[in-house]
Amino acid sequence: MAHECISVFDIFKIGIGPSSSHTLGPWRAAQRFLGELEATGKLSSVTNLQVLLYGSLAKTGHGHGTDIAVLLGLCGDDPVTFDVNKINDKIDDLRRTRKMMLAGKYEIDFDPVEDIEFLFEESLPFHPNALVFLVAFADGDKRAATYYSIGGGFVVQEGEIGGGGSSVDLPFPIDTARQLLQFCIKTGFSISELVMENELAWRSEAETRAGVLNIWRVMQECTYRGCHTTGELPGGLKVARRAAALNKKLLKGRTYTDYNSWIEAIRAGGAHFTYTLDWVSCFALAVNEENASFGRVVTAPTNGAAGVIPAVLQYYIAFCDGLHDDRIMQFLLTASEIGSIFKKRSTISAAMGGCQAEIGVSSAMAAAALTECLGGSQRQVLMAAEIAMEHHLGLTCDPIGGLVQIPCIERNTMGAIKAITASQLALQSNPELAKVSLDAVVKTMWDTALDMNSKYKETSDGGLAVNIPISLSEC
Ligand code: SF4
Repeated sequence: MAHECISVFDIFKIGIGPSSSHTLGPWRAAQRFLGELEATGKLSSVTNLQVLLYGSLAKTGHGHGTDIAVLLGLCGDDPVTFDVNKINDKIDDLRRTRKMMLAGKYEIDFDPVEDIEFLFEESLPFHPNALVFLVAFADGDKRAATYYSIGGGFVVQEGEIGGGGSSVDLPFPIDTARQLLQFCIKTGFSISELVMENELAWRSEAETRAGVLNIWRVMQECTYRGCHTTGELPGGLKVARRAAALNKKLLKGRTYTDYNSWIEAIRAGGAHFTYTLDWVSCFALAVNEENASFGRVVTAPTNGAAGVIPAVLQYYIAFCDGLHDDRIMQFLLTASEIGSIFKKRSTISAAMGGCQAEIGVSSAMAAAALTECLGGSQRQVLMAAEIAMEHHLGLTCDPIGGLVQIPCIERNTMGAIKAITASQLALQSNPELAKVSLDAVVKTMWDTALDMNSKYKETSDGGLAVNIPISLSEC
């Protein structure tokens, strides 16, 4: 089988909340579908279009905004650049007029209520997140195209494999933690240095650096915005945003004017254990409240778990070593390689593996990244990732009302704290004595995913989703 090449920009993708698999992935699928119609010269002759959502996309699609994402994708909008403040108006307009400007160019009749079908009881065998585009053309021709949103915003078309990045010749092809360690030993590179060598197969170091720092900029803006936005989250659960109030409380009147002076104001509060702990929670809550509000976030490796990595990185900046671009690079490159190993050897899709695949993986990524930035050896970095995942094994996905809010938002605070604990444990340990390897825990996560009842795989058919008296119709 061909080696799956996954770049740092496949793991970290700029998009719009609330879900990488149920929002960003379907959006990308719609974009790909349009691209294929354009390539065959048939886009301008579309007369009729229908979208079928299967399995988990149907069951939690309303709460995750899957229909909205598909509509925006079909309209030719891009999740990286589309103004999130215009989503509601655009969707309302489309619902009212029942007209769609396909790819922003060709007007067709399209009634979102009739033409997007949620097939709650049907699932396609390859993956629980399937969507099918049925299209008819002016010449009477018809076509069906099936896509799968396989987690973290990755999309594959029926018959494709992998869903990773473009195929390149990597100097260090890595599928397992063992291979990663062997390459590091052989070359003397740190994990982030080795990842950078691989990234050079796609683009120059300067381009990679600019791209990674842009990812960080989006994470930073998202956290800052989330810490300064009040109100209720959309969707009907009436969940109050908490990050802004916590931010205010922790700062005790200290003033600031921008991100940098905000970090200084945070630092000025000292480093007491509970103060630090509260800030880690505040950072994570902020990102995931933005995510739940259709805000601009970075998949890390998914949207539901988008708060863990920014929270741990901002903990590092505020309480460990300050803000340095080199450290940001080190942090995000290391994290991406760990996410890539989980993607290749297990899954980063909650519809396949429950929340261990989202919060568990993000926690492992953050633990490894923090450990490298704090001076840990390559073995300690891998050990930190292993510890973080080991204590997320079996974590189920059971979002109430199908919304990425409860337990998702708080769960990011837990993932971040476990990452910091795992990193500290690894830094205080001799990894030669570890009984469990990262590869063993990756395999265990996959075995657990296979054994997990589908009720706990992003279907909202089990767990908290059925034990809290709120029905989807109320949302
Ligand atoms: S419970 Fe976990 S996996 Fe499921 S939607 Fe929430 S964050 Fe994602």
